[in-house]
Amino acid sequence: MIDRLSIEVIGYIKSCFTEKFGTPRQAGLVPSAKARLRLCEHFKRREMVRGLEEFSHIWIHFVFHQAMEGGWKSTVRPPRLGGSRRKGVWATRSPHRPNFMGLSVVKLDGIEFDHGVELLLTGVDLLDGTPVLDIKPYLPSSDRIEGASEGWAAPELEALEVAYLPEAADFCSAYETETGVPLRQLISEVLREDPRPPSQREKKEMFGMRLYNINVRWQVSGNYCLVRSCAKVG
Ligand code: SAH
Repeated sequence: MIDRLSIEVIGYIKSCFTEKFGTPRQAGLVPSAKARLRLCEHFKRREMVRGLEEFSHIWIHFVFHQAMEGGWKSTVRPPRLGGSRRKGVWATRSPHRPNFMGLSVVKLDGIEFDHGVELLLTGVDLLDGTPVLDIKPYLPSSDRIEGASEGWAAPELEALEVAYLPEAADFCSAYETETGVPLRQLISEVLREDPRPPSQREKKEMFGMRLYNINVRWQVSGNYCLVRSCAKVG
């Protein structure tokens, strides 16, 4: 029996999510979240992606490389359950799992060949630098299962309402003009999902996250979220 495998990384993710906090809890929750998947030397062959552009969505198998240091846990307290109830790791999508393997369905916006082979992705829940193991087309006819049960992970119905102080809104407009990145839309989509860990919700007043090289600071009161500032890091 094979009990050990050596697996080759086929590419790396370049993503707007440069730290864990604020990275969406699932793919597709933040439609503006953009990333590139740059294929490695061995695998950046045009013929390997021939026909892939015909699919709107793809599966990405990847490694939760930033979870490896912390090891895996047999049970997990999912944020969806308020961080107080435990589920078995196999009943969750937690990064802290044996083999640290992740799986996401993301939108394929295009393929570029200017620097080797790069896939343009949106709707990602992947950190910058994530190592990728495999790519497969998403096949609606077999991968979409009508009437499948959501288990304990049924989506939260209430999204936060997101508003901006004028300086933060101005920063976003200027950034968008300068870079073409719809920063305000991205921030709003991330914050409406309330990325705060349940354990910190009552303890802290101000929260901060980094998107690209921008530090975003916000406060939450009830169902209302106010973005107070955005600033370039470094
Ligand atoms: N859709 C995937 C991932 C779900 S967990 C799956 O089901 O397997 C999503 C969380 O993983 C994100 O909120 C982020 O905190 C974390 N994450 C994303 N990329 C990661 C990486 N490379 N290393 C560690 N954690 C990562």
